[in-house]
Amino acid sequence: MANRIFYNEILTEHNLRPANKHDLPDANLVLEGVNPSCGDDIILKLKVKDGIIEDGSFIGDGCAVSQASADIMLDLIIGKSQEEARRLSEIFLRMIKGKITEEELEELEEAGALKDISHMPARVKCAVLGWHTMEEMLNGASDSVTTEDR
Ligand code: ZN
Repeated sequence: MANRIFYNEILTEHNLRPANKHDLPDANLVLEGVNPSCGDDIILKLKVKDGIIEDGSFIGDGCAVSQASADIMLDLIIGKSQEEARRLSEIFLRMIKGKITEEELEELEEAGALKDISHMPARVKCAVLGWHTMEEMLNGASDSVTTEDR
C-alpha cells in the first residue's frame, strides 16, 4: 500500500509541475500523438544530434496519465542515445503488459510508477501515448532498417 501512495505522488507531481512541458524551437523531430478514446493530444519534440537525444519536450493536452507519462518519459530519455531510448520504451511497453523483471523495473526509474496501469485497460492507451509517439519518431528518423518483430 505504501508503494501505491508513493507512485500516485510521482504522477501527481509530474502533472502539477511537468518539467518537460514547453515548446522546443530547435527540435529537429516533431510528431503528434493522438489517443481518440480519451481525447489525449500531444506533440512530442526531440532534438537529436549524432544519435543522442540532446533535448526534448511535449506540448498539448490530455488526461493526467498521458501527461505524466510523457513528462516522465522525457526525464528518462533526454541525454540518452536513440537505441537506449528505444530499448527503454520496449521495456516500458512490456511493463504495461505485465511482463517485466525487477531489474528492468528499476531501469525505468519513475516510469515504473505507471506499472499498475496494466490493471486499468481503459488507461493503457493514455500511458503508452508518449512512448509510442517517440518510437514512431525515432523509427522514422533512423537510417537503419526498422524492426518489424515488435
Ligand atoms: Zn488519457
